[in-house]
Amino acid sequence: MQISDEQKNDVVRVASWRRRDYDLMAIRSPPRENALVMPYLAEPFQSPPESSLGSLHDLPAEVISMICRGLDVLSLFRFRQVNRHARVAVSNLLEYKAMANNALDCLRAVLRTGLARRPTFRVLYLSMCSMECAQCGFFGGYLFLPTLERCCYTCLQESPNLEVVTLSTFSKASGLSQKRLGSLIPIVHTIPGIYTIWEKKFGKRIKITAKDVAIQSLKEQNLGRDLTNHEFRLSSRQEMLRHMAAVRIPFLDNSTNNPQPTFCCKGCQMILERPGSSHAAGVLRDREYLKDGFLDHFQSCTEAQSLWTSNSSDTKTIEEPPLFEKGGFVRPLDSSGNER
Ligand SMILES: [Zn+2]
Ligand SMILES: [Zn+2]
Repeated sequence: MQISDEQKNDVVRVASWRRRDYDLMAIRSPPRENALVMPYLAEPFQSPPESSLGSLHDLPAEVISMICRGLDVLSLFRFRQVNRHARVAVSNLLEYKAMANNALDCLRAVLRTGLARRPTFRVLYLSMCSMECAQCGFFGGYLFLPTLERCCYTCLQESPNLEVVTLSTFSKASGLSQKRLGSLIPIVHTIPGIYTIWEKKFGKRIKITAKDVAIQSLKEQNLGRDLTNHEFRLSSRQEMLRHMAAVRIPFLDNSTNNPQPTFCCKGCQMILERPGSSHAAGVLRDREYLKDGFLDHFQSCTEAQSLWTSNSSDTKTIEEPPLFEKGGFVRPLDSSGNER
């Protein structure tokens, strides 16, 4: 279907919707909490530094930046707290600034799940500037914390490579204690909350790990039993546990340093709501796009094209489901009426 450059924004507005529940089905801090901590994390203090950086003082600023880039998230946060000088040095780092301003949930998730000793800000920043799901190559709006790789909603739910097991299960199978495993494999200390469209709250903090990456880590270190062909019994809460190991990550266009909005297809949702729709239609419905990706998809989605044609005609002939207005299946407010 021919659309002009001037029509592109209108096509996206008419034929796409924003699934707000995608944000809710991952580790997340309430927006009011993020708003409170944001100024302290993103900016240095107003008053200029008085003390120096001690023995680091004589190093050129570029060298200090290089050292900072090599530190893990927790160490860099601790260094930032040393004094105002350190706070300025860290706050001005490109990677730190970009993460603190655009991906606060992601940073807080790394800290709250006990993974902050693993990634550097550079690794997180590079994930924010990439767009593809490491499993399927389509756009991925989540960061899977055990591997620190992007993934899409469907792969987060279904990919065998992202299977999650509890630490106690993995410990028994590997023959290594949970304490020992703590320094050998990535472990996510889960955060209680609601993670699925069924809105069932999971209130306990447990330790989980991603099966494949944990097996690979032990193999590389030549430790524990070889679990390559081990049949793990997966928890009945597998889907929820996967979401408890993931956080939303925006895509940052590094030419402008601006985060880019994502879109889902209204047409694909409407196809899925028809009786007898297939699993493939569900996968397509769950796909998320950046603007250009959505416009490409629009060219192959007859239902999205019908919405556009209907909207352009004098009388709108297609009625849209209320789901689009609501932003998905998960309620955005908690029981107290606050934004979740
Ligand atoms: Zn994927
Ligand atoms: Zn579509």
